[in-house]
Amino acid sequence: TPSRESLSQNEAVQVIVRCRPMNSQEKQADCNRVVNVYSNRGVIEVENPKARSENERKKIFTYDAVYDWNASQQCLYDETVRPLVSSVLEGYNGCVFAYGQTGTGKTYTMEGLDCEEQWGVIPRAFQQIWTHINRTTGLEFLVTVRYLEIYMEDIRDLLKIKNSKSLELREITGKGVCVTHLHSQTCQSADDMLRAMRVGNKNRTSGATNMNEHSSRSHAIFQIVIEMAELHSKKVKVGKLNLVDLAGSERQSKTGATGERFKEATKINKALSSLGNVIYALAENSQHIPYRDSKLTRLLQDSLGGNSKTIMIANIGPANCNYEETIITLRYAYRAK
Ligand code: ADP
Ligand code: MG
Repeated sequence: TPSRESLSQNEAVQVIVRCRPMNSQEKQADCNRVVNVYSNRGVIEVENPKARSENERKKIFTYDAVYDWNASQQCLYDETVRPLVSSVLEGYNGCVFAYGQTGTGKTYTMEGLDCEEQWGVIPRAFQQIWTHINRTTGLEFLVTVRYLEIYMEDIRDLLKIKNSKSLELREITGKGVCVTHLHSQTCQSADDMLRAMRVGNKNRTSGATNMNEHSSRSHAIFQIVIEMAELHSKKVKVGKLNLVDLAGSERQSKTGATGERFKEATKINKALSSLGNVIYALAENSQHIPYRDSKLTRLLQDSLGGNSKTIMIANIGPANCNYEETIITLRYAYRAK
């Protein structure tokens, strides 16, 4: 395998892996942990529970950073996401993605739980943004948020449920790709943003017969636009931050879906692989970036590449019963870099 240095051509793309703790189901079923995390070296080692020979027993992967089951939300945020949000506050664009099989901790990583200590990336970003705004003088800020989901390649507004029919993607000259009729909400505080997030989360599940199933099949994108105007010169800078809880990456064969479900899964897999291809092309400084292959990458085009920064957080579980999905996720994340 090539060394990390030769892969990391583009500093603007960071790939990190987080392994969640063993859950009670896995403990009850007496599952073994097959994942080892070496944070100081950025290495994940996975033991193949069915290995027949010594040299196929261990697989080793290296990333920009890796986090084990003891890593706190704050630690992950401070080390990886905080610098990206700082650059958004200087007028750059950024994306944070949570990738992985359903149940590996994507939503935990992005939203977290209600108590502040367990807040995930999204509420911590709100906090960072408003701490910065409240202590900055000489600049006027306008903060707006949008919250949308892509389900079966249909775009739904999560802040205005009345427009819950699919919205269109339009290419507007000078403005790039926009979602028509998407509601933008102005926010005056971190609390305003939290409220918007909660409204969106509620709307996300209303109408869904099975909330877990729905959220594992759709991409949720929380978008923050920060406009900064210098009071004297009237010069304006704009930074855009996209916080994305991706659809579950589990393979088709495992869920045994047919008919509509199968079509759905095919679309999810296509969007996820096109995102992987875009990030890979960016990391390679490739000439052609295949944005057009999915709505997800078209929508995020102005925040992927150019001067933008991207963090891909790949989530995995520690147990032997998830060995195959874990390897697939680790390979996706490795290739994404
Ligand atoms: P996903 O969104 O990928 O389907 P969730 O975020 O819902 O997965 O996580 C599944 C369960 O595991 C949740 O109960 C969540 O709180 C828990 N969990 C996930 N990651 C962690 C972690 N790093 N530490 C503690 N609990 C976690
Ligand atoms: Mg989830």
